[in-house]
Amino acid sequence: MKPAPFAYHAPAGVAEAVSLLADLGEEAKAIAGGQSLVPMLALRLAAFEHLVDLGRVAGLSGVERRGDDLWIGAGTTQAAIERSADVALDVPLLARATPLIGHFQIRNRGTIGGSLAHADAAAEYPAVALALGARIEARSPRGTRTVPADRFFTDLWTTDLAADELLTGVAFPVWRGRCGFAVEEFARRSGDFAIAGAAVAVELDGDARISRCGIGLFGLGSTALRATAAEEALTGSAADGVTAEDVGHAAVSALESVPADLHASADYRRQVGAVIVARAWRRALQEASNA
Ligand SMILES: Cc1cc2nc3c(=O)[nH]c(=O)nc-3n(C[C@H](O)[C@H](O)[C@H](O)COP(=O)(O)OP(=O)(O)OC[C@H]3O[C@@H](n4cnc5c(N)ncnc54)[C@H](O)[C@@H]3O)c2cc1C
Repeated sequence: MKPAPFAYHAPAGVAEAVSLLADLGEEAKAIAGGQSLVPMLALRLAAFEHLVDLGRVAGLSGVERRGDDLWIGAGTTQAAIERSADVALDVPLLARATPLIGHFQIRNRGTIGGSLAHADAAAEYPAVALALGARIEARSPRGTRTVPADRFFTDLWTTDLAADELLTGVAFPVWRGRCGFAVEEFARRSGDFAIAGAAVAVELDGDARISRCGIGLFGLGSTALRATAAEEALTGSAADGVTAEDVGHAAVSALESVPADLHASADYRRQVGAVIVARAWRRALQEASNA
């Protein structure tokens, strides 16, 4: 099938893109890499009279150190993130999650802003943003605001962004010190969206106690989720006082509603989810212990 007809707009700057989205209203949609939006248009699951292409918008992509954060422009492709030495050094969890996204052809076009704004429950980046406590920057005619990741993903394919807001960038806090990071997922085939996945960050203090941790889950709810109760229970504990299996169990036992679909039942997802969290926790803790 082919998409319904639409008018194409190619703004050159952020201000122009923001005012186009505001002027054209609900009939307009931003398009970045098109890796999620184009299939939806082609299958006519969605139709818009206007598409505002972000591909030529200056200032929307790039990776920059800003104080204690690494800022990544919304239009930065997943492939550029995969290649970035700054991302590998300052936000290793994001670097490790990126090769798990689809295939390289998709990562060559797909952007971090598109992935966060699309908010697929099984996508890797939202879970990484949650685990690390990232902040998402949005701009509209009303100005610029910053939304913490744990308030950004509100429901299935739904975020806190208003229809006229453009996601302009993401600030990832740089975790330093005795830290470890790991992403694990289970998918039927390499490149498929995950049935269940986890992104884990852990920081140890000088006494090998867990001073901070973040556990982002994907494929296990209607949005990416943060295992807040498990994180709170772990913080302050001795690293060797808790087993990885206990962490996996704690992270999934608090989940209220786990999706069931053609690929997996809710019970199966819970079981796989607990194993995946345990694997990610074990690897992250090992790295932090060796740091
Ligand atoms: C075969 C296949 C496999 C895939 N596998 C995975 C996978 O394993 N993991 C994964 O995470 N993803 C996967 N994807 C999706 C891919 O990562 C997309 O790149 C990503 O979800 C969307 O990014 P995009 O730049 O292509 O956004 P687009 O498709 O252009 O846009 C997606 C949505 O985000 C909105 N949007 C985009 N940019 C902005 C912005 N700056 N401000 C406001 N709204 C914006 C658009 O309006 C649209 O609603 C897969 C895609 C395909 C086709």
